[in-house]
Amino acid sequence: MSEKLAIHGGDPVRKVPVPPPYAGASVYGEEEKKAVLEVLDRKSPYRYYGPDVVGTVKSFEQAFAAKIGTKHALAVSSGTASLVVALKAIGIATGDKVIVPANTFIASANAVVMAGGIPVFADVDDSLNLDPSEIGRLADASTKAVIAVPILGNPCEMDRIMEEARKHNLLVIEDVAQSCGSQYKGRYSGSYGDVGCFSLQMNKILTTGDGGAVTFNDDKFYERGVRYHDQGMFRERDGFLSMKEEDEVFIGQNFRMSEITGAIAGVQLQKLDSIVDSMRKLKKYIKRELQGVEGISFRRINDEEGDASNNVIMLLPDKSKIKEFVTALNAENISCFSLYDGNPVYMNTPLLHQRTVDRDGYPFSAIGGAVKYSRGLCPKAEEYLPRNVSFYLTPEFTMEDAADIVAGIKKVARALL
Ligand SMILES: *Cc1c(COP(=O)(O)O)cnc(C)c1O
Repeated sequence: MSEKLAIHGGDPVRKVPVPPPYAGASVYGEEEKKAVLEVLDRKSPYRYYGPDVVGTVKSFEQAFAAKIGTKHALAVSSGTASLVVALKAIGIATGDKVIVPANTFIASANAVVMAGGIPVFADVDDSLNLDPSEIGRLADASTKAVIAVPILGNPCEMDRIMEEARKHNLLVIEDVAQSCGSQYKGRYSGSYGDVGCFSLQMNKILTTGDGGAVTFNDDKFYERGVRYHDQGMFRERDGFLSMKEEDEVFIGQNFRMSEITGAIAGVQLQKLDSIVDSMRKLKKYIKRELQGVEGISFRRINDEEGDASNNVIMLLPDKSKIKEFVTALNAENISCFSLYDGNPVYMNTPLLHQRTVDRDGYPFSAIGGAVKYSRGLCPKAEEYLPRNVSFYLTPEFTMEDAADIVAGIKKVARALL
């Protein structure tokens, strides 16, 4: 290996790229195939009826609730659907403010808007997750809930978040889309809040291509969630309220999961522990080997034991070096990127300008410009995020791949930092 960077014509650290960044899909095997084929053989791809329903979705829901440690789980069609279901289940309505961290995928904020609510953005701390002390600063009479988002495996400080939220009478949604399997103080993310939201999209730790799940402890929220996701119905309503008028029924959506998706989801869930274990070993090794490398530091992990470890986020000293660092490391065949291009979520054009699908700008129109977004809104997010370089890990990565990642980062750091 020459010290000359590959972008300058030197030999790359690796001849071939590292494995692709899809943890759940990387462990697809005979088990997923068999489960899907059973649904097809029985010609019953729909969860609620058919000639010979397997019940994959129901089984997945039961196993998921048991795994995460909640009373109920509801399977849905996507992570975004899980958020909208959660927001509607807890009663978010027109103009209600919901606290959303400045560092997250657009779906966390978009879902609030689609539910009729108004996102208000909380700054992050050096974990790049929501800073719990922001809750008190932002909460006012129209604030109803907070969405905690464990970013790329790093669990949120759920004890402090719950305490702050309760002090201000807020409900708590955990958006665990990126971090299924992460734990804070021995409990799974998604079991602390009033509702937990999960995604099974391609980039996530478990995947069915698209899909999602919502976890609940509260019966009433669960019932509202089930109804909202299925045209207002509750088809397996034993122990729950009926479709009768006096039982507070309402008009719903269709966010159902199919039996084909449920079949894959159930098998993926059985692989969660081994997926996370593999990634943890890799991440531990990489972080240890990079300890003390000039110019490389890491975001704080709120609970090292509970890090789902699907990603490593490094912070460089200076944002001016990020583009070159990312280009140089990619040229060494170590795939990396700057998470969200270094931008807080509110800098996303439609959100920034509060542009919605409705010609009257609903729901922002309902509050008459009382909430505005602009650069400068969350100073810490704007300081940390532009300095991030991130890369994914999956169970497919070998220890040799991990060693190459370390070598590549050291080489590029020596040359550029
Ligand atoms: C991926 C993601 C979502 C949305 O999940 P989809 O299944 O793609 O709809 C929501 N929140 C966060 C934080 C995500 O990363």
